[in-house]
Amino acid sequence: MNTQSSQTAFNEAQALIPGGVNSPVRAFKSVGGTPLFIEKGEGGELVDIDGNHYIDYVQSWGPLIFGHADETIENAVIAAVKKGLSFGAPTLAETQLAKLVIDLIPSLEKIRFVSSGTEAVMSAIRLARGFTHRDDIIKFEGCYHGHSDSLLVQAGSGMATFGTPSSPGVPADFTKHTLLAKYNDIQSVKKCFEQSSDIACVIIEPIAGNMGLVPADKDFLAELRFLCDAHGTLLIFDEVMSGFRATLRGAEDITGTIPDLITMGKVIGGGMPVGAFGGKKEIMSQLSPEGPVYQAGTLSGNPVAMAAGLAAIGKLKENAILFPILQKRAERLLEGMKEAALQNGIALQTDVRGSMFGFFFNDKPVKDFDDALKSDTKRFAAFHAGMLEEGVYFACSQFETGFISTATTDEMIEKSILAAKKVMGRIK
Ligand SMILES: *Cc1c(COP(=O)(O)O)cnc(C)c1O
Repeated sequence: MNTQSSQTAFNEAQALIPGGVNSPVRAFKSVGGTPLFIEKGEGGELVDIDGNHYIDYVQSWGPLIFGHADETIENAVIAAVKKGLSFGAPTLAETQLAKLVIDLIPSLEKIRFVSSGTEAVMSAIRLARGFTHRDDIIKFEGCYHGHSDSLLVQAGSGMATFGTPSSPGVPADFTKHTLLAKYNDIQSVKKCFEQSSDIACVIIEPIAGNMGLVPADKDFLAELRFLCDAHGTLLIFDEVMSGFRATLRGAEDITGTIPDLITMGKVIGGGMPVGAFGGKKEIMSQLSPEGPVYQAGTLSGNPVAMAAGLAAIGKLKENAILFPILQKRAERLLEGMKEAALQNGIALQTDVRGSMFGFFFNDKPVKDFDDALKSDTKRFAAFHAGMLEEGVYFACSQFETGFISTATTDEMIEKSILAAKKVMGRIK
């Protein structure tokens, strides 16, 4: 496989852009090698600037549930572009997308649109703090909620204590309000509530996708809800990744636990930069200009982005049958990969939620971040490189989730399984 053009492009980019990329996950750091520069996407495939084709299981890290260059979304965007890119005044599309999303997700009563998942989460946390008049928050190890200061936190001296910044540039003063708990471990959450009586909210990915795919246990979420209610603390589901990816009606639909606030992103923008947060009226009404909690955005609810979101979510709503179909395809892929691994004596843990899938080179089931970290990242790197050679594009880290799109055909799945059989044989 010739990737000379990508290598040259990467060298040029590195001279001008830190690390050559505008988001670090793209840099292939954890698997080695050079990131591929993309010329275009076609349905379930990517084409790089050297003309190589790949079956794409990244799908722009989640947003493209209908695959690349979907015609419905493309046409909606073009029609919107022709009317002007942005007005900084209300448009009908904002109310239409709000209504569509609120109708689909039962616990949502009001919603506000922003331009990224990071912004959605940051704003939801400010709102939770403003609503409860409390400062502390609980997050879980291994969950990612965007790159705002108080969420870039790692465990301090132990779990269930106030965290320390995980990046230079984040003052310890900003993270001292963030307590860290262990995913799927209710005792660690109880300990956090013992440490502080000032907890505004608990934020969780109910279907975690940023430590690899690790869904929360139903019982765990139910107990979390109970603890939050007992302490007057809000429960926030961060569904930036899982929203409209795992199910059509939110994680509440498959877990049975109802959050107070939900944050969204990725699929909701159909490939354009959109984030959103919403929840109960009494909480959302605290938001400026209705209430005192300030939040704003020059390009929030941008008409072109709303058009893409409306087209994508509208099409999902009309085709609710899509989710079981996508889930079946994902299950077939993982079943094939697992078989390929077993044939070569390689332990592989797999899981699927709707169009999201995950796999760990690990001999034990993965329930939390510590388990995930015990995975064989060297083997993953070899697998990743081998699959690229075979024309299959997986996320460049063991700790990411894979995505099936409606444009990922059964034929592509079978081709990927055959490739996995070859590659597993080479890396055993
Ligand atoms: C991607 C993601 C974010 C951040 O969204 P950006 O649009 O990258 O800022 C937040 N939370 C979760 C769960 C995510 O997967």
